[in-house]
Amino acid sequence: MKKSVIGVVPLVDYEKESWWMLPGYMEGILEAGGFPVMLPLTQDSGVIGQILESVDGLLLTGGQDVSPEFYGEERLDCCKECSPERDRMEDLLLKGALQKDLPVLGICRGIQFLNAALGGTLYQDIPSQYKTGVTHCQRPPYDVPAHEVELTEGGPLHRLLGCVRLPVNSYHHQAVKKLAPPLKVMAVSEDGLTEGVYMPDRRFVWAVQWHPEFSWRSDENSRKILKEFVRRCKNED
Ligand code: MN
Repeated sequence: MKKSVIGVVPLVDYEKESWWMLPGYMEGILEAGGFPVMLPLTQDSGVIGQILESVDGLLLTGGQDVSPEFYGEERLDCCKECSPERDRMEDLLLKGALQKDLPVLGICRGIQFLNAALGGTLYQDIPSQYKTGVTHCQRPPYDVPAHEVELTEGGPLHRLLGCVRLPVNSYHHQAVKKLAPPLKVMAVSEDGLTEGVYMPDRRFVWAVQWHPEFSWRSDENSRKILKEFVRRCKNED
């Protein structure tokens, strides 16, 4: 049987002038039964249109901070490097994907981008703007839990994993501030930050603040999330 093609948004390194990919995203999708394809960094609407015709789902990867201008805020000193190219590309991709009801999974920057693109805002830097004792930016190794999240009862992640408290890794300095109106929360960290969201009126639009691409080898719940994404790309229900 043909595998679902998952378009993977490229990582960008401005210093090395490169587009690149962490194997964890690609291998995690392969392991989950999908066929991951790293996309070119492009803002060409024709190419974006062709990408949307060619893929069964989209993976919004981690990466630079979303530009504050994108969600209507002034850039603060605590905001780190941004990628306006990715912002523009992902904006076009996401709008097209939502129109076609293509499955989308957002990871780390992916949840932040999704929230910003749909009308929400972000904390530009958790340590500067959100008082917490929870470690959200853990040191390596990244495949071990850093804190817990509480899964919203009856939410899709709770239904999938069957637990309420979920240990997750954590490697982010930004987070959802004002939730975008079309999104619903499905996971919250111990200190009240939004760590998982979904779009109820779409086939599958999910995003998590943690990093299943680092943890799927050792953590069954991370594998389950990737598997569910790939399964839903097949339009089986
Ligand atoms: Mn976290």
